[in-house]
Amino acid sequence: MPKKFYQLTRLQRIATLLAHKLLSVTDAHFFANNTGLTQERANQLVENQLTTFALPEGLARNLLVNGKLHQVPMVTEEPSVIAAASNGARLAATGGGFRTSQPQRLLLGQIILTDIVDVAATTAMITAHEAELLQVANAAHPSLQQRGGGARWLRVRQLSERELSLDLAVDVQQAMGANMLNTMLEAVATTLQAKWTMPILMSILSNYATESTVTATVDIPITVLATPQFTGISVAKKIAAASHIAQIDPYRAVTHNKGIMNGVDAAVLAFGNDCRVIESGAHAYAARDGQYRGLSQWQVVADQLHGELTLPLPLGFVGGATRLLPAVQPNQRLATVESAQELMQVICALGLAQNLAALKALVTTGIQQGHMRLQAKSLAVTAGAQTAEVAPLIVALQQAPTLDLATAQKLLTKLRQQR
Ligand code: NDP
Repeated sequence: MPKKFYQLTRLQRIATLLAHKLLSVTDAHFFANNTGLTQERANQLVENQLTTFALPEGLARNLLVNGKLHQVPMVTEEPSVIAAASNGARLAATGGGFRTSQPQRLLLGQIILTDIVDVAATTAMITAHEAELLQVANAAHPSLQQRGGGARWLRVRQLSERELSLDLAVDVQQAMGANMLNTMLEAVATTLQAKWTMPILMSILSNYATESTVTATVDIPITVLATPQFTGISVAKKIAAASHIAQIDPYRAVTHNKGIMNGVDAAVLAFGNDCRVIESGAHAYAARDGQYRGLSQWQVVADQLHGELTLPLPLGFVGGATRLLPAVQPNQRLATVESAQELMQVICALGLAQNLAALKALVTTGIQQGHMRLQAKSLAVTAGAQTAEVAPLIVALQQAPTLDLATAQKLLTKLRQQR
C-alpha cells in the first residue's frame, strides 16, 4: 500500500509532486532548499529591520474548483488547518468540487469631503464632472488604462449633514491596486481642491471591497458525510443547524468565520498578499445587514448538502510583495493559478472547504480529537524533544489520559530514562 502524502517525509512529498509534474525541476529545487527571505531583501521591505521570521508552508491537496484541480500552498503556524482543508477538499470533490461566480472586480477608493456648505450643490458638481474626473484619475496612473483597466465610475455618498464620500471605482487588472488607486485618488482630490476649492479631509482606498466579491458553492452527496457514529443525513442536518446558529448568534458567528479565515489567511500569505486587507473586509461584509453573521451558509437540499460562501477578496496576482517574497511565484505555479480572478476563486473555495471540515468535526467527534492529535506534535517539540524523540513521544502522548505540556515533559523524561 503506497504511503499517503502526509505520511511521506518533506523531501519525498516534493519528489512526489515532481513525479506527478505538479512541480518543475526548478521549483522542486526551490522548495527543497528554500531558506526563506534574505536579510538584505527583508531590510528592503520594512523599516528598522532586525531579522526574518519564518512560518511553515504546507499543501492543501486536490482542491477542485470549476473543474480544475489545484494544490494550494498554505502558510500557517496552526496544526490541523492544512489537514482540515485537504479533508474538506476531498469531501467537496465527491460532489464535483466547487463552482464560483464573480460579478466584477473593481477596487473602491474614497475622497472624504468635510465642512461642506452646500452638500447638494457639491454632489451635483462632482457628478456633472464625472467624465473629467475619471480622466484625471486615469492620467495619474496611465499604465493601468494601457493594460485594459482604469477608473470606471464614481458616486457620491452623503455621510452627514456636511460630509460626503466620493467613491471611485477602478479596474486594477491583475494587481491588488491599493497604491495605484491611492495615487489616482490624490490626483482627483487635488483637482477638486484646485478647481472648485472643495474641502478635502483625506483620500484613500476602502478595504470594504464590496465590488470585488466572489462566491463559491458546493453540493456534497449526503452519503459521503457518514461517520462510524453518525449517518450522512444526520451529519448534514447538524452542519445545516450549525450554519443557522452562526447566522443568529454573533458569538458563534465570529468563531465560524475564524474557521473560514484559517484557510483564507494561510493561502493569502502563501500568495504574498496583505491579509489585513482580506480580514478587515471579510468581517465588515459579515456585518453588512447590521448584525455580524456567519459568512457561509449550509443547507440540506434533497440528497445533498449545499454550501455557499461569499467573500470580498481584493487579491493581487502581481504587485505588492508578490515579486519580493521568494516563495510567491513558485507557489502560484504549484497552485496553477494564473490570474487574480482565479486566485480569488481558489481562495474562496478553500475557505468553504476549511469551513466544511471544521463544521463536520464540530458536530461529530468534536474539534479536539483531530486537533489534539496534531497538537501532540507541537507539545512534543515544546517539551524539548529532539528530532529522533518526536515520533515516540507523540505515540506516548496519544496513549496518555491527558494531553498537556506537563504530561509531554514527564513522558519525555521517561522516554530518555528508558534509553
Ligand atoms: P503596487 O504598488 O506594487 O502596484 C502594482 C504594480 O504591478 C505596478 O507597478 C504595476 O505596474 C504592476 N503590474 C504589472 N502587471 C500588471 C497588471 N497586469 N495589472 C496591474 N498591475 C500590473 O501594488 P498595488 O497598487 O497593487 O498595492 C498593493 C500593496 O499596497 C500591498 O502591498 C498592500 O499591502 C499595500 N497597501 C495597502 C493599503 C490598504 O489596503 N489599506 C494601503 C496602502 C498600501 P505599472 O506601474 O506599470 O502600472
